Amino acid sequence: MVAVKLRINDVSFSYRSMNALDGITLEINHSEAVSLVGPNGAGKSTLIKCIDRILKPQKGAILLDEENTAQTDARKLSREMSYVPQNNVEVFPFTVFDIVLMGRKPYMGWRVSQKDIAIVAQTLEFLEMEDFGQRYFDELSGGEKQKVIIARAIAQEPQVLLMDEPTSNLDIKHQLEVMEIIKDLVRVKRISVIMAMHDLNLAARFSDRIIMLKDKKVFKVGTPETIFSIDNIREAYGIEAQITTGQGGKPVVIPISADRNERG
Ligand code: ADP
Ligand code: MG
Repeated sequence: MVAVKLRINDVSFSYRSMNALDGITLEINHSEAVSLVGPNGAGKSTLIKCIDRILKPQKGAILLDEENTAQTDARKLSREMSYVPQNNVEVFPFTVFDIVLMGRKPYMGWRVSQKDIAIVAQTLEFLEMEDFGQRYFDELSGGEKQKVIIARAIAQEPQVLLMDEPTSNLDIKHQLEVMEIIKDLVRVKRISVIMAMHDLNLAARFSDRIIMLKDKKVFKVGTPETIFSIDNIREAYGIEAQITTGQGGKPVVIPISADRNERG
């Protein structure tokens, strides 16, 4: 039996008059990695923010372990879920160690405990960043910064990790490295990861399931093999693609031509 970790029940969200999510219903299982894909403006970021309670849906509910998160105490919720936003523009004149330690805030009392310090050290080790602890965040490369923000989210010891385009702005080596980290997190720490992804091939390779959004709705849900078909790619993105098989039998999507007749 598969344990459902998170239920998204008929969630709708509008920014003022602009409708961004329309009746989203999904289940995310314990210890699985799912990618949210779909064209720009499909609602991926909005859905992630609704799950993390940064945005409050006008309709529907989000249940974590069958508990409605709208009723969950904020501190408790921040122990259970962490969020890695897109394009970290935050400027931190802090050391890497201090930034990762911020992830322990939901657990801290008046002072930092030995346990908090140990978890930060372990997290940096897990990400092979133990030599970075005393470096200043502002002096790191984009890829290194991204890993530090992920480290902060991991130190939070969430059960659900939300990531908005975790590999955008990274070179291909760092993209792979970040995806390998996410895979290890799911396997070793048995957490659930929900990530918005533009790179369909990374999504295919590193996700148990794909959720394809289109026009504010769930368009398709399933394994990468079933979701990344020529027809689905055409319908969701309005392009012609070729699908081949890559690493581990996972589909590889090769965009061929923009289907301008379809989209106008
Ligand atoms: P995605 O992440 O899939 O590209 P978003 O969730 O960012 O999509 O956006 C969904 C829709 O909501 C888009 O039409 C977008 O223009 C709109 N939107 C996003 N953020 C805001 C905002 N802060 N105010 C108004 N509309 C927004
Ligand atoms: Mg987005």
